[in-house]
Amino acid sequence: MNSSVVNLAMQLIKIPSVSPLDLGCQKIIYKRLKNIGFKIYFFNINNTKNIFAYRGSEGKHLNFLGHTDVVPGGDEKKWKYGAFNPFLFKNKILFGRGASDMKGAIASMIIAAENFVTKNNSYKGKLSFLFTSDEESSGIDGIVKVVDLLKKKKQYIDYCIVGEPSSEKILGDVIKIGRRGSITFNIKIKGISGHVAYPKYLKNPIHIIIPLLNKLINYQWDNGNKDFIPTSLQITNIFSNSLSGNVSPDELSFQFNIRFSNIIQPKKIVLLVNKIFNNNLFDCEINWKVFALPFLNKKFELINVVSSSIKKFNSIDTKLSTSGGTSDGRFLNLLTDQIVELGLINKTIHKYNECVKVSDLELLSFLYEDIMNKLLV
Ligand SMILES: [Zn+2]
Repeated sequence: MNSSVVNLAMQLIKIPSVSPLDLGCQKIIYKRLKNIGFKIYFFNINNTKNIFAYRGSEGKHLNFLGHTDVVPGGDEKKWKYGAFNPFLFKNKILFGRGASDMKGAIASMIIAAENFVTKNNSYKGKLSFLFTSDEESSGIDGIVKVVDLLKKKKQYIDYCIVGEPSSEKILGDVIKIGRRGSITFNIKIKGISGHVAYPKYLKNPIHIIIPLLNKLINYQWDNGNKDFIPTSLQITNIFSNSLSGNVSPDELSFQFNIRFSNIIQPKKIVLLVNKIFNNNLFDCEINWKVFALPFLNKKFELINVVSSSIKKFNSIDTKLSTSGGTSDGRFLNLLTDQIVELGLINKTIHKYNECVKVSDLELLSFLYEDIMNKLLV
């Protein structure tokens, strides 16, 4: 048993690095990678810690991307062994916050690099790691900033493996080759408030908005394509300034988020939303923010390498997917057009008693090492 993966994962889980704090996770990684000849740079931006480490020069550049932060542990009583008290159950299952998202995958990456470098001291190409401590919260001082700096230094990347938990039932059964975009709208509607018993003196913004929201919910933005499911919308909040049960409000705000494919441009979405709300005669303020643009790996070189490693080590055909939320892969997309997300099973991520199979941690490490072998030797 390659218990070094488990030991490193446990060392990382023990640190309560709730986003955007790192609290020393990257120092552990720094020591391990420095020992095997990596050059290391830290980019500390406000509360966020970022680390970029590379080894090698000429040839293709293979990068591994990840995050050392985790979501909060929540109610400690709901954990069998504690959120930040890594527990190895019967030597088979490792419990703790970050076990699968994604300190376990980081441990698999580092051990893979140690084994790879030991066996191939003078490999061709460049192997690098980029980790941030702010993926789970705002992300404003994380990968987005480092990618900008790397771009200025003309550090281009040929292939990027993101260690996010992409697997569903069996390790490697799903890999992500892209992600949908995300746009959030905040809309405020003004009306005239008054006593509910005298409707002729009122302009109730709730009444105005109900048919429009209905239109919004049922709107068919696109039909999806072979790579993406159809664009979808969820209303996330509605609130009014009603003073009491017999007073209609004069202001209503609501928020919704749209996850969009590469079929529709955010500009078009903004235009359509404006059309739905501004064609109606009322006082309306529309604000929006694009959080992520969709990306898609259209080249099959890296996808084929990753799929063949999964086939070799786990005897399954992997499924290519673009589902799920956004990931930091969207920023790496500015440095490379070949991104694949391959990580642990996502069944318990962000939940109480997050856990991972020890055999999966070890298998993932073999997969990462095999990918290094195929691309850099
Ligand atoms: Zn994650």
